[in-house]
Amino acid sequence: MAQNGTAENGVPPNPAALPQPCKLTHITHTKLFINNEWQSSVKGKTFLTFNPATGCEICEVEEADKADVDKAVEAARAAMRRASPWRRMDVSSRGRLLNKLADLLDRDRTLLATMESMDSGKPFLQSFFIDLEGSIKTLRYYAGWADKIHGKTMPVDDNFMCFTKHEPVGVCGAIIPWNFPLLMFTWKIAPALCCGNTVVIKPAEQTPLTALHMGALIKEAGFPPGVVNIVPGFGPTAGAAIASHMGIDKVAFTGSTEVGQLIKEAAARSNLKRVTLELGGKNPCIVFADSDLLLAVQEAQKGAFYNQGQCCTAASRVFVEERVYDEFVRLSVESAEKIIAGDPMDPRTSHGPQINQQQFDKILELVESGKKEGAKLECGGLALRDKGLFIQPTVFSDVRDHMRLAKEEVFGPVQCILKFKSEEEAIERANNSQYGLTAAVFTRSVERAVSVSSALQAGTVWVNCYNALHAQAPFGGYKMSGNGRELGEYALAEYTEVKTVTIKLNEKLSV
Ligand code: NAP
Ligand code: MG
Repeated sequence: MAQNGTAENGVPPNPAALPQPCKLTHITHTKLFINNEWQSSVKGKTFLTFNPATGCEICEVEEADKADVDKAVEAARAAMRRASPWRRMDVSSRGRLLNKLADLLDRDRTLLATMESMDSGKPFLQSFFIDLEGSIKTLRYYAGWADKIHGKTMPVDDNFMCFTKHEPVGVCGAIIPWNFPLLMFTWKIAPALCCGNTVVIKPAEQTPLTALHMGALIKEAGFPPGVVNIVPGFGPTAGAAIASHMGIDKVAFTGSTEVGQLIKEAAARSNLKRVTLELGGKNPCIVFADSDLLLAVQEAQKGAFYNQGQCCTAASRVFVEERVYDEFVRLSVESAEKIIAGDPMDPRTSHGPQINQQQFDKILELVESGKKEGAKLECGGLALRDKGLFIQPTVFSDVRDHMRLAKEEVFGPVQCILKFKSEEEAIERANNSQYGLTAAVFTRSVERAVSVSSALQAGTVWVNCYNALHAQAPFGGYKMSGNGRELGEYALAEYTEVKTVTIKLNEKLSV
């Protein structure tokens, strides 16, 4: 999920200037972060986090459960109380704090990128140039909004004054996944904080480390106690406690569609808290014969393999016009075979391991299903190396719409190439999915780019590019890919309540 137009594959143009990961022998922050303090869990439980490139343990982390979420919510509610330091804070100071936090991320960029790569298996340079860059830009973007969020005055009649105020929603819960741990952390906290809310956030159990380091930076930046609380733990315990908590006013979730449904149900059954969901995708990428074919091959493959295919935006159904289909497949195989997989800390690596055994097994099972159902395995399809959870970049051609590969979210490095004959057919097949997160179109015709992007049912459509995300542009899904929008000005509406104030003036009006 490249954000903000960083260099191709995250690697800067001058290889001599490549940053190096730091030596990380000890992880400092492994406890729960509640009320600006490092706390042990109430039940005294811990869990292990692993490096998926080696299978080795990194460290033990305190495990939050319901009782810890209760403590975090209490701290977040106290920080929201009337006349609290956070509520009293001049709004531009909120922006200053977010900018200070961005400065601290920049200062600790190498450390955070190293930690992110160890914990998630992402190639270090991608963490450094894409995840960190996107996180810093998201914080700065919302820092700029902090003092620009205001209501309107409505003309009613002369005897009234009527205006709106945009107030914080209150305590915002956030539940985030393992594929972009730090980036998702900032996508959640930055808009929440710039609007004056407080936050209780649960990182994914596979990748808690950068979130916990953020706790230290949040405190150092000077956010008052209780404004951000971080509760690492498991979904069915800590996550479910957030979704059903009576003291949480809104929950923002990124992850699978199945868990998104549970979150919405828990919200409905508890206090009808607001819910925003960023879920899965089975994103179509349509390549017309009039496109720049090399560009289309390169971008579609970036879409399929970036972050080992573990992206909700993954280009998982590539529809290619019949006339250029064979050439597209040939070039895609050539390109996939050149990808260097290996140690994520090595700057030459652009392909790391999958996150865990469960995902690894699920991906290989889907590869088998593709072979059985008659798709043509062009390259890859196997596990790589004897240690770590590596899967070869895999290309399938002759994929048909009814196959599991064309319907289910693979969340792995598997590119599925399908053939189409006409524009109408491509649009209809592209839209024939329960998902509607992103889509891409490759064509040299401006007219076609406009008409096809209008016809596609997706929250984001990329034309002649892929994974081009910007903090300024809203992101979210149609259909079962989600509810609401993150990023951009649009996200502010998700984190504010609109209050209408109507004042009767009691003017003595003479007729
Ligand atoms: P997931 O289960 O949806 O996990 C996402 C987050 O939700 C994690 O923090 C998880 O906690 C939490 N969670 C799980 N069950 C919960 C519950 N009952 N109540 C509240 N929170 C809960 O995703 P996953 O298992 O990691 O991956 C499974 C599939 O989800 C992938 O194959 C992929 O298709 C999809 N996925 C999508 C995205 C995306 O960016 N849209 C990201 C990741 C995964 P834990 O820490 O216990 O996991
Ligand atoms: Mg890990």
